[in-house]
Amino acid sequence: MSAVRRPLLAANWKMHKTVGESVAFVREWSRRVADGWALPNAAEVELVVCPTALALAPVAPLLDALGVGLGAQDLDVGSEGAVTGGVSGYLLAEALATHVIVGHSERRRLFGEADGVVAAKAAAALAAGLTPIVCVGETEAERQAGETKRVVTGQLRAVLEAVPAADARLTVAYEPLWAIGTGRGAHPSDASEVASWLRALVAERWGAAAGAVRILYGGSVTAGNVLGFWQADAIDGALVGGASLEMESWLALVRTVAPTPPA
Ligand code: PEP
Repeated sequence: MSAVRRPLLAANWKMHKTVGESVAFVREWSRRVADGWALPNAAEVELVVCPTALALAPVAPLLDALGVGLGAQDLDVGSEGAVTGGVSGYLLAEALATHVIVGHSERRRLFGEADGVVAAKAAAALAAGLTPIVCVGETEAERQAGETKRVVTGQLRAVLEAVPAADARLTVAYEPLWAIGTGRGAHPSDASEVASWLRALVAERWGAAAGAVRILYGGSVTAGNVLGFWQADAIDGALVGGASLEMESWLALVRTVAPTPPA
């Protein structure tokens, strides 16, 4: 964990939880806090929850009261227009989202989002005032072929070309596809090596401003393995799927990375 970048722990709920279940989860978290479960100091770690699009507005005031950020899981390019089914970054911001996941491997795989689309979405998120969490990562076959760096380079360079100027809000999540939802996380030293590589790519374009860009790791992160990533200098937090869905595993994760409650 770096001394200059505030670590980020983000929960990606994907297409899990109804709106009612999302609200109930945050209400239960709030009840635990009221009963004495100490939230981490916001200066120590930034927490973000990314529910389904329909749950954004209902959970927004509850997360805000906890001092927790609200993230969407995708956005459309553009601000408004003839885009049936589209949800722009501006609409997400109106629903009080602060962050948005961009280019998750499930979007790339299931919706055919190519690097150029992901890059345009990252730029659109920034233009709408959101913090994009841009996901990059290789498949198992690419890893076996020793192509990890080549793959993530193409994915990140596309984003850097689309974002007009250095922007410290840009957040990158290294999420190897073979580690997502498999229970087989990357080794922290391997993830760290890729994170350093990604930062070097940002530095190539943005110079010293790359030092402010956060690079997360995602892929089967749990309370049991998170510290390995958290303690790596090159890694600035985690994007978490499965372990964020249940209250106990989520709170255990948060408590593991922020063990000292505020005085
Ligand atoms: C994800 O989908 O972003 C993710 C990291 O999932 P999991 O933690 O379940 O591997």
